[in-house]
Amino acid sequence: MKEPTLNLSPSPGDEVKRTTCYMCACRCGIKVWVKDGKIRYIQGNRDHPVNQGVLCAKGASGIMQHYSPARLRKPLLRVGERGAGEFREIEWDEALDIATSWLAPIRERNPDELAFFTGRDQSQALTGWWAQQFGTINYAAHGGFCSVNMAAGGLYTLGGSFWEFGEPDWEHTRYLMLWGVAEDHDSNPIKLGLGKLKARGAKVIAVNPVRSGYGAIADEWIGIRPGTDGLFAFALIHELLKADRIDLDYLVRYANAHWLVIDNPGGADDGLFARDADGNALCWSFSSPLREAQGGGREGVDSTTGRSDPSPALPFASGEREGAFARADAIGISPAVVGEYVLPDGRKARPVFQLVADRYLDPQYAPDAVSERCGIPADTIRRIARELAAAAFDSKFSLPIAWTDSWGREHSEMVGRPVAMHAMRGISAHSNGFHACRALHLLQLLLGAIDAPGSFRYQPPYPKPIPPANRPAKARKADGTLDAGPLGFVHGPEDLVVDANGQPRRIDHAYSWAYPLSAHGMMHTVIRNAHAGDPYRIDTLFMFMANMSWNSAMNTRQTMHWLTDKDDNGDYRIPRIIYSDAYASEMVAYADLVLPDTTYLERFDAISLLDRPISDADAASDAIRHPVFDPATQLDEDGKPRDVRGFQSVLIELGARLGLPGLVNEDGSPKYRDYADYIVRHERAPGVGLLAGWRGTDGQSEGKGAPNPDQLQRYIEHGGFWHAPIPESARYYKMANRDYLQWAQRFGFVPNDAPIVMQLYTETLQKFRLAAQGHGEHQPPEEHRERVATYFDPLPIWYEPFEHDQTSRETFPLNAVTQRPMFMYHAWGSQNAWLRQITARNYLYLHPETGAQYGISDEDWIEVASHHGAITVQAKFAGNVQPGTVWTWNAIGKRRGAWRLAKDAPEGEQGFLLNHLISDVTPKGDYANADPVTGQAAWFDLRVSIRTLRDGVGESVQQFAPLDFPEANERPLRYGAGFRKDANRKVHAK
Ligand code: SF4
Repeated sequence: MKEPTLNLSPSPGDEVKRTTCYMCACRCGIKVWVKDGKIRYIQGNRDHPVNQGVLCAKGASGIMQHYSPARLRKPLLRVGERGAGEFREIEWDEALDIATSWLAPIRERNPDELAFFTGRDQSQALTGWWAQQFGTINYAAHGGFCSVNMAAGGLYTLGGSFWEFGEPDWEHTRYLMLWGVAEDHDSNPIKLGLGKLKARGAKVIAVNPVRSGYGAIADEWIGIRPGTDGLFAFALIHELLKADRIDLDYLVRYANAHWLVIDNPGGADDGLFARDADGNALCWSFSSPLREAQGGGREGVDSTTGRSDPSPALPFASGEREGAFARADAIGISPAVVGEYVLPDGRKARPVFQLVADRYLDPQYAPDAVSERCGIPADTIRRIARELAAAAFDSKFSLPIAWTDSWGREHSEMVGRPVAMHAMRGISAHSNGFHACRALHLLQLLLGAIDAPGSFRYQPPYPKPIPPANRPAKARKADGTLDAGPLGFVHGPEDLVVDANGQPRRIDHAYSWAYPLSAHGMMHTVIRNAHAGDPYRIDTLFMFMANMSWNSAMNTRQTMHWLTDKDDNGDYRIPRIIYSDAYASEMVAYADLVLPDTTYLERFDAISLLDRPISDADAASDAIRHPVFDPATQLDEDGKPRDVRGFQSVLIELGARLGLPGLVNEDGSPKYRDYADYIVRHERAPGVGLLAGWRGTDGQSEGKGAPNPDQLQRYIEHGGFWHAPIPESARYYKMANRDYLQWAQRFGFVPNDAPIVMQLYTETLQKFRLAAQGHGEHQPPEEHRERVATYFDPLPIWYEPFEHDQTSRETFPLNAVTQRPMFMYHAWGSQNAWLRQITARNYLYLHPETGAQYGISDEDWIEVASHHGAITVQAKFAGNVQPGTVWTWNAIGKRRGAWRLAKDAPEGEQGFLLNHLISDVTPKGDYANADPVTGQAAWFDLRVSIRTLRDGVGESVQQFAPLDFPEANERPLRYGAGFRKDANRKVHAK
């Protein structure tokens, strides 16, 4: 019999489109193979700087996201009661007419009556600008409940941050500490990087109560107790200071270790930097350097006493050795980092480093003192401190790259510090998270391990000046637009968005005295406050891609109530809700008007340097998505045409209908055709648009340049991304590297090429503390004074998370945290037919010792209770968790009926959300369950008790009435069968 002819290398499809993945926040380059008008295969793009061809399970499952039966089909108008999920389909014209008729009077009357909150949408460069044009200060994106502590802690300290804004030096680091890193951010770059480290034999330590994901391949797992990361960091700092294993030269070259801090208790200037008449920070400089500098801004560091005897005693006073006050940024000086000095006007002052030594050499931060609270043996802490120091200082590693610093000095090499850290939500989603993040940065700085070869590295456009220049909007201009973007960085109490009585002006209370540095807004407070009319009633809540009635809410039951509650007149207390989503999520049921979004393969997007860039430490990058399909050709699962539009284009049309400045021409006609047109033609500042590549009329400019009508086409031809390598001499020490800063200035990343001085001690925080102590024009209302004075410490502090007070710890003896799985992302991944096959339900995981302690057997159904409520879930033993903590996967539990899953789907029957146990306010009920500095939601402060319920339970109990969305059929699960049939037919035909 003749053997069939087999094609051993079949082409995956007829054509391939290179675009950007949107199955998580990582934004990898993908190649989408299409055959006969359907996606055949999604492949990683080898040329793409983010993933270099790597594709994860989520990325490959984008096929099922695109063909999801949960996709919305047409605009919807609510016909039943809010929350019942009863809608009628309407046409886009009607939908936009309705939205315009709701929003136009608001803009006329008071734009703040619109609260516009977006989720994980990756288009804040547009949405924030749109809110500014509308004139509402009530805008925020999801960072407030994700990791703003991480962003703010970094930006106020380093001018950069972990998260997606920096990375370990994967090529050179020899010691990496991962702190609280889950698997969902920067996913493929971390995997690629860890592979390099493992191949090189570098040591990887995972600090996390749960050992999963990256932690599973770490050389050492530190099963820390949640909320104690800052304390652990302090103990490491204590050991490094005690052993004199710190890089003082680095600290005075690049940070403010030598800046003098005024010591005048009770005075209005206490804790501020001593400055000259022109406002320049001062230091004390000895007349002759004790040793030669190894390069950098200052000649040398007078640290003799500080190095040989780390006692906090004050070794020098001005006059004991010859010297003089000098500008701290001067060169040719020998600055003191310890001692006490008397300023010409008689005030005393001490260098920042002296304050650091005073604080962290205190025995309360000794390993033995913190060991039990952190759950880490004291010997382990001491050993890790030794290992950090050895990796940083004993390797004598440097790169033979000549570079010039900001002061014009030439260096023949780049001195390495091959110790890197990376951190994420695990340390930041606590009520003490801001200071925990600052503590980590302080630890890095003491080791000289910021942007040195082998250490943490900035990704352009970072570093930025500290704090970043843009302040939050406070006022409206004559044309109704805001005087700045609604989100920004406060520099002092005068920048708060409060009224004359110091009360919040924003609906989420961001930038108020309760949460002053809330740089990303506070999404987790908006529904409670909108319902309560605190500080005022709003008219319309407009949300995009934010599942706020389910996994993106704390206090879920109450949130659903607030969304549906009515006043005495029978009117909804939140009068109108507009929501845009691509899928039938839990939140859709609570909308009055639903604007159906496209899938990520059906529209243009800009992954912009003005938003969350995809740069790496060696290059600036941005990217686009472009339509692989016209949504009109993509039928729903019943074979009906879908009539959906990209939200960003809808927003632009809505803006034009409303006549918003910037969105209409002088004659009132729409300025932009759609989002693609906006991406190309909009200029945020002259020559600066959403995309940095192929600018200028000839397409030859990068960074800045006139709009180029062919820009999107150039991106498409180049694989969907733009990538501008940083010159070799500019790749490290970016905060004080002349070549880098001039390169960054050309791209508009920094205003000038002045060095960025990293802040061990943050004067901004001290300004708030002084205000709370009764100084200055802007002071907090009485009820906030103690809180501000306590938590606005200019050096990092550690305190018990608010839910961990003594009573809570006795009544609820266990910590409970969620982890984002590597194989899913937010709620939209856990409805994906292929990803559901990895897991379709979650358990509460606990250590077998914990089970034994509480009489619980493996797979028992148990009750889990917090101060906020109780749920019933199924327990499962796992050895990958420290015994004082229980954990589960996040966002797998679904409300029955949502996402068009079957009413008896495991996600609804056995899956559960820990959110049902998390209150949106502190146990005392006095503030949001959030960090007092930034307002970051404190998801991971949760404390619980557990008990077994042996009998009669087979489903999780936290149930809500099923949503009445039609159930999907099973057809998509058989996706690909047609391809097989075709292939077989062809073979047999031969
Ligand atoms: S890591 Fe994220 S962006 Fe990259 S392929 Fe996976 S899902 Fe897509």
